[in-house]
Amino acid sequence: MADQFDAVVIGGGPGGYNAAIRLGQLGLKAACIDRRGAFGGTCLNIGCIPSKALLHTSHLFEEASKDFAKLGIKAEVSLDLPAMMGHKDKVVGELTKGVEFLLRKNKAEAVVGDARIVSPGKVEVKAKDGNVRTLETKNIIVATGSDVSPLPGVSIDEQQIVSSTGALALKSVPKRMLVVGGGYIGLELGSVWRRLGSEVTVVEFLDRITPGLDGEIAKQFQRILTRQGMKFQLSTKVVGVEKKKGALLVTVEPAAGGEKQTLETDIMLVSIGRRPFVDQLGLDKVGVALDARGRVTTDAHFATNTAGIWAIGDCREGPMLAHKAEDEAVACAERIAGKAGHVNYDAIPAVVYTAPEVASVGKTEEELKAAAVAYKIGKFPFTANARAKTIAATEGFVKIIADAKSDRVLGVHIMGAEAGNMIAEAALAIEFGASSEDIGRTSHAHPTLSEAVRQAAMGVEGWTMQM
Ligand SMILES: Cc1cc2nc3c(=O)[nH]c(=O)nc-3n(C[C@H](O)[C@H](O)[C@H](O)COP(=O)(O)OP(=O)(O)OC[C@H]3O[C@@H](n4cnc5c(N)ncnc54)[C@H](O)[C@@H]3O)c2cc1C
Repeated sequence: MADQFDAVVIGGGPGGYNAAIRLGQLGLKAACIDRRGAFGGTCLNIGCIPSKALLHTSHLFEEASKDFAKLGIKAEVSLDLPAMMGHKDKVVGELTKGVEFLLRKNKAEAVVGDARIVSPGKVEVKAKDGNVRTLETKNIIVATGSDVSPLPGVSIDEQQIVSSTGALALKSVPKRMLVVGGGYIGLELGSVWRRLGSEVTVVEFLDRITPGLDGEIAKQFQRILTRQGMKFQLSTKVVGVEKKKGALLVTVEPAAGGEKQTLETDIMLVSIGRRPFVDQLGLDKVGVALDARGRVTTDAHFATNTAGIWAIGDCREGPMLAHKAEDEAVACAERIAGKAGHVNYDAIPAVVYTAPEVASVGKTEEELKAAAVAYKIGKFPFTANARAKTIAATEGFVKIIADAKSDRVLGVHIMGAEAGNMIAEAALAIEFGASSEDIGRTSHAHPTLSEAVRQAAMGVEGWTMQM
C-alpha cells in the first residue's frame, strides 16, 4: 500500500520546505523530499547562508587589519582560514537541522532520496541504499531549484575552476582569482577572497556589473569595489582556459569579437548565472511544459498545465532568490488549501551583501524610462547621516523613485552599510502602496542609518532637511 499525502513537495530548499511547513499549518498532510540529506536546499547548504557567513567574517578580518587602528584599536591580526570555514560549516549544520525540526513541528514528513514523478499523483523516491518508496498524492509541488550555469568549453573541477560551491570551500587563499560574471554571486565571493588577500579580477560580458540593478547605483558600486582593489574587465568574454604548471591561462576577447588576450590566474570562479534544475524528474512523462529557458511553465498561481502539479522557486520564472521561493511556497500551499495565496512581484527586494551592501526593491530608473512612466527622485548620501559617521561607514546613498503625479513609491535603491536590513521598510512601503510623503512623515529613530531613507523620501518633494 503506497503512502498517501495531500501534497508531496519535491525539493527541500526555501521553496520546498516553506511549502511543506505552510501545508502542515493548514492541516494538510505533506511530505518534503530532498536528495541532499541536509534540508534547506541551495540556500542553506551552498548558497545564501555559507556565503553570508564568509562575507561577515572576511569583512571583520579586513576591518580589523585595516580600519581598527583608525578607530583607536590596536590589534595584531592574522587569518585562521580553517576556523573561519569551521564557523561557516557550524552555522550551516545548525540551520539545516533547524529545517528538519520545523518540518517535524508542522507534521510534514521529511523524506531523503531521489524523487521522480511516475504519473500524476505518484512520486517514487529512491533512497541511497536503493530502497524505493512510492508516495501517492493529490498535489505535487515541484521545488527542485537551480544549478550552476556552465560556461561553454570550460569544465568545472571545483578545485581550480570552481563554481560558487567550490569558492565557498577553498582550502587556502589563492594569490589570484579570476571571477567570470559580475553578478551578485561573483561580486560577493570575489569580495570574500579579496578581503582575505587575493588579487581579484572580474570579467563581465556586459558593459556594466550587476545587470538588473539601478544603473546609477551600479556605476558607483563598481567605483567603490575598484577602490577596494577589485579589477574589472567589462564587455569581455572568456573563450577558453588551459591548465599550465599549477596556474590557469584564461583566454578572453572583447564581447563584440576582436583580439584575444591571455590572463593568468590561480583560481577561476565561474559565476555567470544559474539554470533551472528539473533533470530526471519525469516532467516529460506527465506532460508538464517548460519554457525556452528550461523553466517550468505555470499560471500566475503556480499551477502547471498538468492538473495537480505545481511549481515554485528557482525552477520557474522570476528572480532566483530564496525569499521569492518562500513567498511562492506560501501562496502555492494556500492555493492548494483553497485559499487566495498571492505574490506581489513588485515588492520583492534584492540585496548584494558586499561592503557597502546594495539593496533594491521595485522599479529602476531605466525600467520606468522604458515604460514611459513619469517619476520624481529623492536622494540622500550617507556622508550626511549621523549614525553612518559614528560607525565610519559613510559610503553610498539612498535613492527613492516615486510616481510624478500620485507620489506612490515605485522603487527604492540603497547602497550603504545595513542596506539589506533597511530595504525592508521600502518593501513594506511598496506593498502598502505608500507615497514618498508617507515615508517622509514617518518618525525614524535617531541616530539610525534608516534616517537616510526618510531624508531621501523628503527629497522627492524637495524638503530634505539635513543636507
Ligand atoms: C552562492 C549563492 C549565494 C546566494 N545568496 C543568496 C542570498 O543572499 N539571498 C537570496 O535570496 N538568494 C541567494 N541565493 C539564491 C538562493 O539560494 C536560491 O534562490 C534558493 O535556494 C532557491 O530556492 P528553491 O527552493 O527554489 O531551490 P533550492 O534551494 O535549489 O532547493 C532545491 C532542492 O531540491 C533538491 N532536488 C532537486 N531535484 C530533486 C529530486 N529529483 N529529488 C530530490 N531532491 C531534488 C536539490 O537537491 C535542492 O536541495 C544564492 C545562491 C547561491 C548559489
